[in-house]
Amino acid sequence: MARYTGPRCRLCRREGMKLYLKGERCYSEKCPFEKGERVMPPGERPKKHRSKLTQYGLQLREKQKVKRIYGVSERQFKNYFLKAAKKKGVTGEILLSLLERRLDNVVYRLGFAVSRPQARQLVAHGHIEVNGRKVDIPSYLVKKGDVIAVREKSKDLHVIKYALERDIEVPRWLSLDKKAMKGEVVDLPRREDITFPIQEHLIVELYSK
Ligand code: SF4
Repeated sequence: MARYTGPRCRLCRREGMKLYLKGERCYSEKCPFEKGERVMPPGERPKKHRSKLTQYGLQLREKQKVKRIYGVSERQFKNYFLKAAKKKGVTGEILLSLLERRLDNVVYRLGFAVSRPQARQLVAHGHIEVNGRKVDIPSYLVKKGDVIAVREKSKDLHVIKYALERDIEVPRWLSLDKKAMKGEVVDLPRREDITFPIQEHLIVELYSK
């Protein structure tokens, strides 16, 4: 299935929570979740009682949520799962670690972009280099020691400068040199580095059927 290109807020409404897909807007009053009203899933009218999800429904929603956070297709997501399942360790945790190591996610985590979709665009448009070489593949998996930088010709881009002006917390496994617009992968991401509420065991259960 192709990558979703429709309205992003719709995805959050479907999952019933903020997935932070639109950058600054997600932190403003324009976000539907900040309006103090009940946010309904797309196409549904308010009901008196919300029907309870089955176990399968819960597993499916969790998978969809994580897919949407990282902006990956069904096929790509399944491939990450298969790769994680082959490795030694807790499959769900390895799956999340692989997703975190995507280059578009790292660009977002370093603060070069205000959202993952924007970071994906920066990578795809050739504004990012890894270890001194241009990499325009958003799914590129970074490894320990990799140096990720904004390319010289892109350092004046307003979107990147604007994103870097924000005061964000860079995760433990990355280091950032804001002035030089570059960062380094100082460790691989671990489960505790992902603070977003995710129940990865539900995804493992879904794919293990
Ligand atoms: Fe989701 Fe951001 Fe839209 Fe809010 S503004 S619903 S967090 S994409």
